[in-house]
Amino acid sequence: MLHLDLDSFFVSVERKHHSELKNKPVIVGGMGDRGVVASCSYETRKFGVRSGMPMKIARRLCPHAVYIKGNASIYTKESHLVTEIIKNQVPLFEKASVDEFYADLTGMDRFFGIERFAKELREGIIKESGLPISVGLSQNKVVSKIATGEVKPDAMSVIRLGEEKQFLAPLDVNKIPMIGDKTFQLLMGLGVYKVKTLQEMPVEVLEGVLGKNGRTIWKRAQGIDHTPIIPFHDRKSISNERTFHRDTTDVTRLHATLVAMTESLAFQLRRGNKLTSNISVKIRYSDFQTSTLQVKIPYTSADHILIPKAEELFKKLYNRRVLIRLIGVKLSGLVGGHYQINLFDDSEKMLSLYHSLDRIKDKYGERSVVRAVSMGAKTIGRMRNPFDGEPPIVLAHRNQ
Ligand SMILES: [Mg+2]
Repeated sequence: MLHLDLDSFFVSVERKHHSELKNKPVIVGGMGDRGVVASCSYETRKFGVRSGMPMKIARRLCPHAVYIKGNASIYTKESHLVTEIIKNQVPLFEKASVDEFYADLTGMDRFFGIERFAKELREGIIKESGLPISVGLSQNKVVSKIATGEVKPDAMSVIRLGEEKQFLAPLDVNKIPMIGDKTFQLLMGLGVYKVKTLQEMPVEVLEGVLGKNGRTIWKRAQGIDHTPIIPFHDRKSISNERTFHRDTTDVTRLHATLVAMTESLAFQLRRGNKLTSNISVKIRYSDFQTSTLQVKIPYTSADHILIPKAEELFKKLYNRRVLIRLIGVKLSGLVGGHYQINLFDDSEKMLSLYHSLDRIKDKYGERSVVRAVSMGAKTIGRMRNPFDGEPPIVLAHRNQ
């Protein structure tokens, strides 16, 4: 399994388009009072700058850096470009996020030698895309990902079969994916700092402390992982559509339905930690004439970006004076990733808004908080209509 990760992706894209930024400390993020660092060059990291950090703190730590407001549409284009390069070389790969991939190279060694192939793939990506990328090669996804992280930036790491434990032993425990801040604090409280200590603990002890995750973490510490590649699919999508009981031209109602469907899909994206790069809207008239319009968009899962797009497409589509029978919204080109990618305006405020909204939805149901405009459309989403006891007419369709 090969793990590929573009180095400080947003910064590298900015440098590709503005060569004067090369070798300078660069920070990309939101420029407002409450902006967050989305990506920072390696020169800034020695001052303690990290992605996810409030811009205010970054400015204090590294005042001489060049600060750039992020541009999601350029990053999306570059992400698509790298995806195409990989797709042309490797039949089976996963796009784990906008800047991160896994490739299954099983069976290639007979022809090439896996290491040589991985090396040439990395060099090919750098040459064709102009973006630095690091790769890690081992028997499984977890070890490869950790290997990439250790060797970054602009390098390749190979962990051969049987060397996994030895490679992991000296690392800090939070290098293991799955060990977040909470688990890390807990382990440190127990005096467990290094993976070596985890390796030597009986699995039952770890299970006792961490519950069912304990066993997985213990296995990962030993370098064992059997997670398969989730093959990348351009057509991977989620959709929502609604047939009206009585065909309608009630614009307010149509609009409310459209917004509710889009809200519901965006929430599902965020729940599944996904981003979309393509939105389409469908209308079916009472005479069954159906038309669809779609548009490519920068990767997002934010309502305030998706809803205006849906409205814009609907306005363009709805051009006959005929009753409408059905409307639908579809989001495709899905990849894994957080919604920070296009929240460069006052992002901290926006992030916490989405965070709170999604928490309430998780707890009380998807329709517990909705936009005022979509309140008329009570049956969209997975929650039953509390007012009539009927099951929802619309359920989201999922296509692999
Ligand atoms: Mg990266």
